[in-house]
Amino acid sequence: MKARNPIIIANWKLNGDIDLLCKSVASFIRKYFKADVVVCPPYIYLREMLSFLQYSSVAIGSQNVSKFESGAYTGETSAQMLKEAGCKYCLIGHSERRSMFRENNQSCNIKVKSALDSELKPVLCIGENAEERDAGVTRDVLFRQLSEGLEGIEFNGDDILVAYEPVWAIGTGNAASADNAEEVHCFIRKEIKALFGRDVAEKVRILYGGSVNKTNAALLLEQKNIDGLLVGGASLDPSHFMEICQVA
Ligand code: PGA
Repeated sequence: MKARNPIIIANWKLNGDIDLLCKSVASFIRKYFKADVVVCPPYIYLREMLSFLQYSSVAIGSQNVSKFESGAYTGETSAQMLKEAGCKYCLIGHSERRSMFRENNQSCNIKVKSALDSELKPVLCIGENAEERDAGVTRDVLFRQLSEGLEGIEFNGDDILVAYEPVWAIGTGNAASADNAEEVHCFIRKEIKALFGRDVAEKVRILYGGSVNKTNAALLLEQKNIDGLLVGGASLDPSHFMEICQVA
């Protein structure tokens, strides 16, 4: 038995259509999972997904959230709107948002606060890129992403999740080894303990993401400090994703 209940999150990114939505929903209906299972489809599918899944154990999350509450911000969606649409979780600071949409630790910090204010559970994504790994600064990068992303936040332990996603592992088929991921998760938990105390560090769920598939999921989840998985590509195949949910 794991100390913390495992959680598996599907991140569809800018993929999927009504056909995938229907197939995914059909695969979830009347299934029981020991793990918490969450799907983050593009915004446009959130309501529909929720209406199909409202009596299932699967929760819905968004892939992003605006740092603004309301006003003249064309194209944005607020935390309150996501909450109202039925979301429970919200990814924040995914590396694709950091590298392509100029998000940084400060904007992530505002978004985490905004999600918490609307009673969404933020999943703060952190991770080093290949150059940072090769330069040996992984721990500095992660520490900065964590401490700045969570600065000034009252963290209870189970209200915020952290996803470790090494950028070099995302979409490459080159996942971190279970040992390597466990070592980094251990470091992240230790830093959370230093920042927020033992109680928070013991409660917080730390997910691994980056080329997770049905073959490597079980070994990753066996690690003491890996409490869940954030799955991109493999979540676009409902039967593949189901196998990952069932190993947890
Ligand atoms: P991947 O993506 O599973 O396709 O590597 C993971 C993610 O970016 O969240």
